[in-house]
Amino acid sequence: MIDQELCIGCGDCLPVCPVRAIHLEADVARIDAEMCVECGVCYRAKRCPVEAFEQEPDLPWPRIVRRVFSDPNAPHSATTGGWGRGTSEMKSNDVTGRYKRGQVGIAVEVGRPGVGVTIRNIEKIAAPFARLGVEFEPLNPLTSLMEDTKKAIFKDDVKDERVLSAIIEFLVEPSQLGDLMRALEESSASATDTVFSVSMINRLDPDGAIPHMEALKKLGYRASPNAKVNLGLGRPKANV
Ligand code: SF4
Ligand code: SF4
Repeated sequence: MIDQELCIGCGDCLPVCPVRAIHLEADVARIDAEMCVECGVCYRAKRCPVEAFEQEPDLPWPRIVRRVFSDPNAPHSATTGGWGRGTSEMKSNDVTGRYKRGQVGIAVEVGRPGVGVTIRNIEKIAAPFARLGVEFEPLNPLTSLMEDTKKAIFKDDVKDERVLSAIIEFLVEPSQLGDLMRALEESSASATDTVFSVSMINRLDPDGAIPHMEALKKLGYRASPNAKVNLGLGRPKANV
């Protein structure tokens, strides 16, 4: 929120908003509530010379959805109780053991600073994956907003909420790679107001080879092989 009585219309706060939700109107800064993703950057940046920014400490449901996906300082009190946009990342797999050999983890990261995304658009992007019969990661906060996890249908009251970004997570069998790539093509046609990137998560083969690179090449796709290596300082769970 901007205290309209304090604002002197200097415009210093406009560039700090990652989704360009702040504008000047009659020489006073205003926030477009529909565009704002409640990331809190304008408040924390402390660029305002008259300290006109205030932050609502307890946003009501469903507005709180914006904050928990967009502000890294906000815990997911309204969804899974965790932090961040997804679950523990692939780089901590030696501790979590979420991705096992032979499994293909998929993380579709939807939205970016400057773009953002509505839950309604995420629903369209996720629908082709649901038709593959995948199980969306139950610990992922986005999954917790689904009313029907088999069809990737989100709860009605969150569909118009806009977030900076979110991650759709699920596993596929190697035999489903072709179907997956076709589903991704379909999803990209549905990404009408946003962008997304896709990570395919594999454990290396014992000889160090990256699984499924050849299979992807045969399907006509070029993957960028980025390794994430942990130093092994975590405490693995028993099932790793
Ligand atoms: S909370 Fe974030 S999105 Fe909203 S106006 Fe401030 S910087 Fe922009
Ligand atoms: S930085 Fe502060 S005073 Fe300047 S336009 Fe923004 S809210 Fe107004």
